[in-house]
Amino acid sequence: MSEHAVALGIDVGGTAFKIGLFDREGAKIAADKHPTPRKGEAGAVLAAIAQAADDLLQHAGLPRESLAGAGLGVPGRVDPDSGVALNCPNLQVLDGVNVVLGLSQRIDTPVLLANDAFCATLGELRYGAGQGANNLLLLTLGTGVGGGVVINNKAVRGPRQLMGEIGHMTILPGGRRCGCGNFGCLEAMVAKEAMIEHALRRLAAGRESLIDTLTGGEDAKISPKIISQAAGEGDAVALEVIAETGTYVGIAICNAVLMVDPDRVLVGGGIAAAGEPLFGAIRRTVKHRACISQFDPEKILPTSLGNEAGVYGAAAMVWEE
Ligand SMILES: [Zn+2]
Repeated sequence: MSEHAVALGIDVGGTAFKIGLFDREGAKIAADKHPTPRKGEAGAVLAAIAQAADDLLQHAGLPRESLAGAGLGVPGRVDPDSGVALNCPNLQVLDGVNVVLGLSQRIDTPVLLANDAFCATLGELRYGAGQGANNLLLLTLGTGVGGGVVINNKAVRGPRQLMGEIGHMTILPGGRRCGCGNFGCLEAMVAKEAMIEHALRRLAAGRESLIDTLTGGEDAKISPKIISQAAGEGDAVALEVIAETGTYVGIAICNAVLMVDPDRVLVGGGIAAAGEPLFGAIRRTVKHRACISQFDPEKILPTSLGNEAGVYGAAAMVWEE
């Protein structure tokens, strides 16, 4: 294999980080997942990543010289130009740290930094369900709501890294309080905690539901996964919760489409695993509300790389230069 043949992608989360070696076409050469060190300073996180990178290269039988570069995705706001992680609520040891400098010194290769949602967007654009689309809007629904935008075949974030922050678009004035301080943000209305609350509200009203059976009546065990499972069995309460979620997501998409004018909208994240009940509600909402854009609901599709989109996209940054 020739020199500079592979890119290293790293997707760091609050509890684990994914790391992989990819060629320019996005073929995965080797990949691994490790716990993110929770004790110590940022140096402990960067050292663990560097060690995992060495292990991966060794496993793949590649010298370090074969690295064209590394892309690092972190869960929060970053300054890609200076290489500093600005604000990572779930990994605060990185806040204010120049992670690009710290990691490039340890692995002796150029490092590019981005937010994890940006990486997921780029991953889907180059190697996933976004391939062939010049303009994309991506939403990830999970513990939080992330978003990303592609304009003219380029993933973009804007000068203040705000483009695509669809999770904090107000969907319902006076709605649930969001972690950001605002009320009724999309994230506050549809992310994990919101879905659980939407379910609990119905159960507290005395509704019978398979959710109770699946959790053995323990409310603390309710999760989007349990709700999806119950919906899959046709449970009315679970289907209502998912329809409510899909309606809010659909409204957000209608709003965002007017700003982004995407060819395709991709929806991913753990909550999107609910599948047709969720996508049906999203598409119905868009069909009825996208009056000006006339956005075709059939162009709202699931992402295809799952929770690996971020590590694919982190590596893809290396080839974007
Ligand atoms: Zn918010």
